[in-house]
Amino acid sequence: MFPEFPASALRLAFDRDALRSNWLALDRLSGSARAGAAVKANGYGLGARQVVPVLHAAGCHDFFVAHWGEAQDLLDCVSPAALSVLHGPLTAQDAAFARETGVTPVINSLAQARRWTEAGGGRCHLMVDTGMNRLGIRLEELGDEAIAALDIDVLISHLASAEEETDLNAVQCGRWQEARKQIRHARASLANSAGIALGRDYHGDLTRPGIALYGGVPRSGMEADLQQVVRPEAAILQVREVPAGETIGYNATFTATAPMRVGAIALGYADGYLRCWSDKGRFQARGHDLPVLGRVSMDLTVVDLTHAPDVGEGDWIAADYALPAAAAASGLSQYELLTLLGRRFGR
Ligand SMILES: *Cc1c(COP(=O)(O)O)cnc(C)c1O
Repeated sequence: MFPEFPASALRLAFDRDALRSNWLALDRLSGSARAGAAVKANGYGLGARQVVPVLHAAGCHDFFVAHWGEAQDLLDCVSPAALSVLHGPLTAQDAAFARETGVTPVINSLAQARRWTEAGGGRCHLMVDTGMNRLGIRLEELGDEAIAALDIDVLISHLASAEEETDLNAVQCGRWQEARKQIRHARASLANSAGIALGRDYHGDLTRPGIALYGGVPRSGMEADLQQVVRPEAAILQVREVPAGETIGYNATFTATAPMRVGAIALGYADGYLRCWSDKGRFQARGHDLPVLGRVSMDLTVVDLTHAPDVGEGDWIAADYALPAAAAASGLSQYELLTLLGRRFGR
């Protein structure tokens, strides 16, 4: 036996109660529709295997991933019937996997519809494109015999700009309502997180929040209902005194104008803490505010401990990572801030 792998100096603090509370709030805001959950991209970086059981216990029964491999990773976490794969069956193997496991495919094209029927068919979802021109069949294709052969659970469409005030929202909603009249289905779904705030016309039977579950605030007005769920934390590896006039980090972008006490933490751009945080990011420990000094490196970042004498080597410090504020500070989207978080974080 090898000795147990040493503990990491990087972890993602994960507030299960906040996740649960966010889902319950989004379910309530969805009116008579039920809220599902987008858990693709490893639960937006939080760890899908951690996220799904919490949401399931809260009452969520519809989970959306993008790739078939993502569904496979969750087969022992939740009933396969509760899992749907947004990208749909690209190959006969994908269709066979869905048939064997009971995971539901989202059918996005006539070719996917035929592939699913040829594999034996069964319950599926249908994605209708109402204005994004990304995935999904066009309204004109709804009458095709390949679609008529499907047993459709959820008739899905996806909004391009739900977080904005734009006429496209009503246009897409109208096309989705039109599709609902044209084709037999058990349930209908349009809204992502931001779409939930657009009102009951957008709710249908099922909503599909993602970012808002994890503490993102996609539209102003939703912040009161949503809580921060994750916070990156890193351990201080080394503390040093820096004399006035010396520089810190790659390319010497920061110069100490007075003697300073600084700490190097085990977090860098390889972990998704990108270089846009250089001289800009902030951490917290024991009530102190700890600014990032100089460039973020691949595996290391230096923070200012001059005014935090009680913080030292081995201590854990937490990044300021409330998503709306962190997005404004970094220029990254709230989605990027979460999905970038790398594999070296203990989850
Ligand atoms: C990612 C995704 C969602 C969730 O979107 P958010 O903006 O994160 O709420 C919903 N539906 C589809 C089809 C998606 O791809």
